[in-house]
Amino acid sequence: MLKTIILLGAPGAGKGTNAKKITSEYHLPHISTGDMFREALRDETELGKLAKSYMDKGLLVPDEVTISLVKERLSKDDCKDGFLLDGFPRNLKQAEALEEIGKEINRPINYVIDINVPEEILKDRITGRRVCKKCGAPYHIKTLKPKVDGVCDICGGELMQRKDDNEEALKVRLDEYHHQTEPLINYYSKKGILHTVDGSKDLKEVMADINAILG
Ligand code: AMP
Repeated sequence: MLKTIILLGAPGAGKGTNAKKITSEYHLPHISTGDMFREALRDETELGKLAKSYMDKGLLVPDEVTISLVKERLSKDDCKDGFLLDGFPRNLKQAEALEEIGKEINRPINYVIDINVPEEILKDRITGRRVCKKCGAPYHIKTLKPKVDGVCDICGGELMQRKDDNEEALKVRLDEYHHQTEPLINYYSKKGILHTVDGSKDLKEVMADINAILG
């Protein structure tokens, strides 16, 4: 079956890490709105400048901006045989817009995977998270250390802490998640396409559970 997948989960649930594994295993484009905004920010585009003011505070970028970005991305040729969305939709308005886009491009979403992780674990994961400046690969100061301190195993890039991975922005991001994104669990459950995995397990086990869902 065509794989059109949404990964849901709070900040720190492991969406990015699992998305990388899934997309490489199933040969799907990995569409992360957070990565797209960070790239725009690095390239200092108008979009980047606009997104920065929201991202630094942990707030969601306005829907019109995010929805048109995703619409444009999903219309590209590489999404014809499926795709994985990581970090989108983040609220009901985005979910409804995605449903319309799915109809237009004739590729509705057929799997929503919610990665469920208790809040204490989320905080520890986020504040200890490091990412490669160059390729975006994720690391953790305790649980996923690089071979050489501060250097990416994959591309040799420098590791850094995301600007929004601090306690203050995290509090806002978790609030945004509870108020705006969590209702999507019910929305997709009613549509009968929601699957939940326990994201507090280790990475291999989580991937095994995801593989069992995707078949
Ligand atoms: P992420 O990498 O998914 O944690 O996203 C980082 C930041 O990018 C978020 O805190 C938001 O400011 C912004 N962002 C990413 N995805 C979305 C989205 N779907 N809607 C609005 N803002 C988003």
